[in-house]
Amino acid sequence: MGKKTFTCIVCPRGCRVTIDDNMNVTGNKCLRGEKYARTEMTNPTRILTTTVKTTFKNMPRVSVKTEEPIPKELIMQAMEEINKVTIKEQKKIGDIVIENILDTGINVILTKPLIRNEVKNEEVHLSN
Ligand code: SF4
Repeated sequence: MGKKTFTCIVCPRGCRVTIDDNMNVTGNKCLRGEKYARTEMTNPTRILTTTVKTTFKNMPRVSVKTEEPIPKELIMQAMEEINKVTIKEQKKIGDIVIENILDTGINVILTKPLIRNEVKNEEVHLSN
């Protein structure tokens, strides 16, 4: 199979890491990069960040993410599940939107507070 080189996405430094058939990792500036390279070879995962529909006029969509990385191959299926959801109540950051998505043991949580803030259109009376 030989070596495989890719960019580590764990932090903004973006090291080019190389992994060989014996799972030896080079090019990483820290241990997190080594772990990332090994996971990328065996079971690539990603944190999924997206938005969910709400019934709130002031915020028709709110941002969410998976609490932990999920297998890359499940991303499309997870998006389908997330697109079925519409939030109707106020929520705070970290509240669970979908529990145990696709039986991964990982929750989808809110990354922004969802607060109702309906502004009434009041008539403006001009006097002359
Ligand atoms: S190897 Fe370490 S320093 Fe380099 S991008 Fe990955 S996490 Fe950041």
